[in-house]
Order: sequence, then C-alpha cells, then structure tokens
Amino acid sequence: MVLVVINERHNLYIIYNYKIVRRINVVAPNLSCSTLLRVAAQQPPVPELGDNYISWALEPSGIFSVKTAYSLLAEPLWSMKEPIWRLVWQWRGPQRIRIFLWLVAHEKLLTNSLRVSRHLAVSGLCDFCSSTAETILHVLRDCPGTRSAWYRLVPRNIRDRFFSEPLKPWLMLNLGSCDEKWSTLFGVACWLLWGWRNKGLFEQDFVRPRDEVRAIRATAHNFEHARDLRSNTSQPRREWRWIQWRRPPPGWVKVNTDGASRGNPGIAGAGGLLRNDDGHWICGFLHNVGFATSTIAELWGALVGLQLAWDRGYRHVVLELDSQVVQRLLSDGSTHNQCLEPLVSSISDILHRDWHLEVSHTYREGNACADWMARWAVSFSLGSHFLVAPPIGLHALLEGDLAGASLPRYCVA
Ligand SMILES: [Zn+2]
Repeated sequence: MVLVVINERHNLYIIYNYKIVRRINVVAPNLSCSTLLRVAAQQPPVPELGDNYISWALEPSGIFSVKTAYSLLAEPLWSMKEPIWRLVWQWRGPQRIRIFLWLVAHEKLLTNSLRVSRHLAVSGLCDFCSSTAETILHVLRDCPGTRSAWYRLVPRNIRDRFFSEPLKPWLMLNLGSCDEKWSTLFGVACWLLWGWRNKGLFEQDFVRPRDEVRAIRATAHNFEHARDLRSNTSQPRREWRWIQWRRPPPGWVKVNTDGASRGNPGIAGAGGLLRNDDGHWICGFLHNVGFATSTIAELWGALVGLQLAWDRGYRHVVLELDSQVVQRLLSDGSTHNQCLEPLVSSISDILHRDWHLEVSHTYREGNACADWMARWAVSFSLGSHFLVAPPIGLHALLEGDLAGASLPRYCVA
C-alpha cells in the first residue's frame, strides 16, 4: 500500500497508519508533519471493507458532490469561515428573514444600482429621494425616510457607528450585538423597510404604515414571543444530578476509555484504564493518535481498551465511555462516514467475539480518570503505550473514584 497525496491542502489522500509513517517519511520526505499526523490517526484499511479506492474528502460518505466542489472553487471568492455568515445563520428569527439577511450580506438585493448594472433599468437613482444612487446601504439605512425611523430605533451607544459603517461592518455591528433584542429588531427592521420599499414601487394601492417604528417594534415583538413559546415547549426538562464512577458487578472488569483533540480536529490522544470489581487499578494505556477529530480519538480509545481487556483474558467486561456519538456508532456497528468506517468495523469485530461485554455511557464527570489519561497521551510518541502501574498524577482521581466522590451535573431528566 502506498500513500498518495493528491492535494495536501484538502487532505485528499489514500490513507495508511502510523506503523508505516516512518517508512513513508523516507519515501516521501517532503510530506509535512501535519499530514503524517493525520495519516497516523487512521486505522489501516481492513480487507473486509474491500479494495482501496479514491474518495472525495469533502463529503463524509466519500461520494463526489457538486455542492462541495462548488464551495471548494468559490472559497477564494468568499469564505464560509467569515464571521458574517455565522452571524446571519445564527440570527434568532424567522428563516425567511435570515435568507433576506444572507442576500444583503452577499450584496444581492436587487436595488436600482444593481438593476442598472444588469441592464434592467436606465436609472440607478433612488425612487424616493431621487438624490443619490440606490445602493443597499442607501435603501436600508441612508434614505431620508428610512433614516428617520432608525433615529428612533438605534440605541444611543452605537448611533455614531451605526450611521457611518460600510455594509459588512454595519451588519456585523448589529447582527453580532450582545443585546439579542436589538439584533432581532435590526433584522426585522431591515426586512420590513425593504418590503415596504418594494410594495411602494410595485403595488399601486400600497400605503406605508403611519407609524413605521411602531410597526417594526410590534413585528419583532411577535417573532420573539413565538420563539419563546416554541423554546419553552421543545426544551427537555433538566435537573441537577450527582455523577460518580461506579464499580463493575462482581466478577466483571470495567474499562473506562476517552479521547481528546486539541482543536477538534487537532493533536489528539486517547487513554483508558481497567479496574476490577473492588474499584482497583489493573492496568492502563495511552495512545497518541496523531491529528484527528475527538470522535476518532474516542474510537481509538475504545479499540485499544477493548483489545487490552481481551488480551489480558478478561471475558466479563463493561466498556464505559462519555461520548454518546461513539456509543451510538458502536451499537450501530457501521457508519457511512469513510474516515470512521475502518475503526468502527475493527471495534465491531472485537465486540462480537465470544465474551460478555456491555457498553455503557457515563457523563464526563464519571469518566475523569480516562479523560486525564487521554489528555496525557499526546506527550508520548505515536501509537499505544501500556502501563502496569498508575501514573502519579492519576492517584488522586483514582482514590476519588474509589471513595465514591461525585460531581454535580445539570442534565436532561
Ligand atoms: Zn433615497
């Protein structure tokens, strides 16, 4: 098997794992350290999953899609990572206004200036004041009629910036305001002002509201009220619970595992430990994963932990982890995500061996020892490291678990 880097920036490569990373480094010494760490985080392909093939790295399924290809090509023109898009899509209000705000941020509102540039109109002047070109900022903020409404709406502390910022900073200032009520009111006001402008132009008998500010405030209030009603009914009930690590049933061994990724994806580690029904340490492991997501790190933890328990001859085992995503992947036994598939498949093989195995979920507070091990793992070299004695730094946490120490957590009832 050969590692082929097609495009390192977008991680399009056929994968192999850390065992031959060193050899790859000899064959292809120009590969960056981060690429090698990404390769190390992958489970070697297993024959049961079929022959190697090139997959499309931008889709979890590996299947090519025009959508992701377009975003790849369009990336230099506008970046999805720009905070303005996050602010637009996280804006708290109806979806139709969100789409309107997205058009505004894209400078795609069909104002007279834009119509002239597309040869749809002969004049780019504002139809209401006829004094200047009708740009987005003019129609939404600067036209005299609109401006007078904003004077009554805009909080005093941002008034100077409000009337002087160019389009994108203006949107960021208001949509990103820490005053959530203002952010909602702003979006609703822009949407209504644009709607009234259109109706005024295209509907002969349309009359603008006599008190525009009042109409804007009332609409925003209605949207907020509807949102509050919805969130009150859809939120599950939550309560405080005390979470602690619990010993396995008599005759059983408990394997706690965890994974951690600094940056997700980022430098990642996995770790875990085996304890007997008295709650005492049997052995532990650390696994420096490489560069991966936290889900991949968690899966590595489960894989190494289960293999360790099996190799040690234990046949009554509880695997306990704190990731519901991983627990679901293990119960499904397969995934459409190509990056996870080899790992999930390997774990699934171990799960179906001839032994008594239970997979259980705990909260992070009940998995503190494994969490500590996973974070520590990144200080070691790539791959697995097995420990016969508990590390000194873990003693206090181990003793806490043994004594039944518990931590409060606000969780779904
Ligand atoms: Zn105007």
